[in-house]
Amino acid sequence: MKYCTKCGKELFDEAVFCPNCGCAAPNPPTASPYRAADDHVSVGLCVLAAMIPLFGIIYWPLMHRETPKKAQACGITAIVSWAVCACLGFLIGFFGAILL
Ligand SMILES: [Zn+2]
Repeated sequence: MKYCTKCGKELFDEAVFCPNCGCAAPNPPTASPYRAADDHVSVGLCVLAAMIPLFGIIYWPLMHRETPKKAQACGITAIVSWAVCACLGFLIGFFGAILL
């Protein structure tokens, strides 16, 4: 919701003119930074996040407002990749300790 700058009447967000006094309505408050066109799951980014989990974990909160789907896919890939690496490292260490 926005308000007429001249008479102060409440206006619809999409209103161009104030119905009360007829003056031009102010532009809507700062447009959302959400970039729908860019917001698709990027395979390249996911691969990068899988190889460098730290990148994905930093990218997620950083880009969450602009491209939430892309950022989330990247962040989740990073976490899954990190978890798999941690499990593999644990298993290798565990069986290595038993076998050697
Ligand atoms: Zn007005």
